[in-house]
Amino acid sequence: MIKFACLTFICFLLHSSNGVQILHGVGDYTSYHVGNMNLVISVPHNGLKTTSDIPDRHNGCLDQNNNCIYTHNCGQQSNSCSVRTAGDSYTKSIATKFYDKVHELTGLYPHMIVSELRRKKMDPNREVNEATFGDPLATQVYNDFHNFINQAKNAISGDGLLIDMHGQTHPEEWIELGYLISRYQLVNNIWIPSISSIRALDSRFNNVGLENLVRGPNSLGKLLNDHSQLVVPSPNNPDPTASGNYYSGGFIVKTYGSKNGGNIDAIQVEAPKNIRFSSTKRTKFGQDLGSAVVSFMQTYYGLL
Ligand SMILES: [Zn+2]
Repeated sequence: MIKFACLTFICFLLHSSNGVQILHGVGDYTSYHVGNMNLVISVPHNGLKTTSDIPDRHNGCLDQNNNCIYTHNCGQQSNSCSVRTAGDSYTKSIATKFYDKVHELTGLYPHMIVSELRRKKMDPNREVNEATFGDPLATQVYNDFHNFINQAKNAISGDGLLIDMHGQTHPEEWIELGYLISRYQLVNNIWIPSISSIRALDSRFNNVGLENLVRGPNSLGKLLNDHSQLVVPSPNNPDPTASGNYYSGGFIVKTYGSKNGGNIDAIQVEAPKNIRFSSTKRTKFGQDLGSAVVSFMQTYYGLL
């Protein structure tokens, strides 16, 4: 039996089968599976819903001081203020398999926040102006998404980890793990914990060191290598090489990881196209990510 209850803006849907509460934001454009552990999964770029109530996002305009203005009537659009609108296909499917595997292994439920709205309408992984162009409904959906992440973070009392799920189309076809450590820093062995999204982890395991946390024997990259996954950074691919394609982390990881303090770290996970567009490969990757994250958290966080 499924129970429904709606407040002003948010509806609660209670699944009696497993007791997991799912909150929905305005228009059902966001969802939050309320968890009971210290792992948060966010999926910002695989929304499939669209609406004519929100205008499409487009390039912004440059003002006199060369700052980008993101509004729908800003005037002459500029390539210097380009806006990405393509979604990350199949990342919700991967995240769901990841979520299920974590539950299977631990008996606990991660928190999972999903944007169900197309990126063309709103991008949760950008600051609010570029994300919404000031549209009131887009802003409400944006706020729902971020309020849900804050709610999840606030429910965690000790150390925790957020995994931000994305997809890319880089020709190397590797899985990219982003810790806010740039390609240049990885290639040139520049390790600055205070700018990374796992700053809290580094301070707890100062003896291990940031490099080992990122590509050493117990790193998430190594644990995924153990499942035959091609990953950068990892022991098999320590850095993206000087010219390789690599995303080091975006707005969500910057905002919700421990770069600016707190006990919650964040890692951006970018799945390549060959994994995302194969049902077999994305099932394996989702499950491998679940196993790897559980091992990683058992070593460094404790599962709470
Ligand atoms: Zn993305």
